Amino acid sequence: MGTNYKPETICIQAGYRPGKGEPRVLPIYQSTTFKYENSDQMGRLFDLEETGYFYTRLQNPTNDAVAAKITELEGGIAGMLTSSGQAANYYAIFNICEAGDHFICSSAIYGGTFNLFGTTMKKQGISCTFIDPDASDEEIEAAFLPNTKALFAESISNPSLVVLDIERFANIAHKHGVPLIVDNTFPTPIGCRPFEWGADIVTHSTTKYMDGHAMSVGGAIIDSGHFDWMAHKDKFPGLTTPDESYHGIVYAEKFGKLAYIEKATAQLMRDLGAIQSPQNAFLLNVGLETLHLRMPRHCENAAKVAEYLQKHEKVAWVNFTGLKDNKYYSLAQKYMPNGTCGVISFGLKGGREVSIRFMDRLKLAAIVTHVADARTCVLHPASHTHRQMTDEQLLAAGVAPDLIRFSVGIENAEDIIADLEQALATV
Ligand SMILES: *Cc1c(COP(=O)(O)O)cnc(C)c1O
Repeated sequence: MGTNYKPETICIQAGYRPGKGEPRVLPIYQSTTFKYENSDQMGRLFDLEETGYFYTRLQNPTNDAVAAKITELEGGIAGMLTSSGQAANYYAIFNICEAGDHFICSSAIYGGTFNLFGTTMKKQGISCTFIDPDASDEEIEAAFLPNTKALFAESISNPSLVVLDIERFANIAHKHGVPLIVDNTFPTPIGCRPFEWGADIVTHSTTKYMDGHAMSVGGAIIDSGHFDWMAHKDKFPGLTTPDESYHGIVYAEKFGKLAYIEKATAQLMRDLGAIQSPQNAFLLNVGLETLHLRMPRHCENAAKVAEYLQKHEKVAWVNFTGLKDNKYYSLAQKYMPNGTCGVISFGLKGGREVSIRFMDRLKLAAIVTHVADARTCVLHPASHTHRQMTDEQLLAAGVAPDLIRFSVGIENAEDIIADLEQALATV
């Protein structure tokens, strides 16, 4: 796989190539299973001696076509879809961490990921140290332990909008012999391609901009193929020693650069089963076809809204990576020169109570537990997505108690601003 097509063409054409007389549009393979001529053929599939479909929990042609498109957009070597972004991040770590292992994660991450890594995976014996993404190299390196297996961060964090210095993080990870895993949900590969800066694995909540229409929950994991597991044989026994549940296969030997995704599919998907439904993959594919058109509009509209808010007397602060005075402007210019994303955050003078009252007055922008939708939407993380966090944890995640997360859609920017205007006039 892999062509020299540009992102716009990949969005439309990649992943599915019909032959003569076949459907022009990617079909939904709404089938749990696949038929074979004799039992030996099927046996060879189970032994991973041949590739082919046999059960949708492991692989499905609709899902594979969509995963291939995202893989090509990211410039990766192999990819897979998962049932959600949560499943993608869980698998991405669990594929290389076992009970007794440790990994390091930026503290500026999505609340759901924070719970998963900090609480749920801890119960499975995998510990995580959270570090400030703006800490010095020395401070981050001090978090590495002999059993550290990965470094994880979001390219643009949800909702604090910290832009990751991907190259710096990749260098730190590689110095300690572990891969850098980047959740690239917010900029999407239209805005940022972490593999070009040294990241090894990319994850997505496809629920967000990729689907783009708030229709289907989903996730994806993409491997660059760059990390040399065999060079760190002792650190990653799951990939470099025999898998007894697969007749002693050594993934890194048998599959080379494809080992990481092969293992995640053959072992984790087999045993944990967080597959994306082919129906959702179909909808995701429709969303991907316009990703390259929608992202620039999200960014443009967000810039207009951010500039409007910045000038408003009732607004205390505005955080948008595209504003010249933003702390992360230069990092955003380096890693996402064509635009970051449509998500901005801000607080109102008068604090938390005023911010909540303001949200209730919005008419066009809807209060929803969602972000990165074609429709403008708004959320108050401290009382919604991050409500389980203490004030200290909120601040470490870059979430001020008065922070309003405003996800600018692709409606007309003047209409979005008029909605803000009328709501601001009442508080
Ligand atoms: C939403 C989100 C997730 C979780 O994805 P789901 O599809 O909701 O499970 C993970 N990472 C980021 C950055 C997100 O925004």
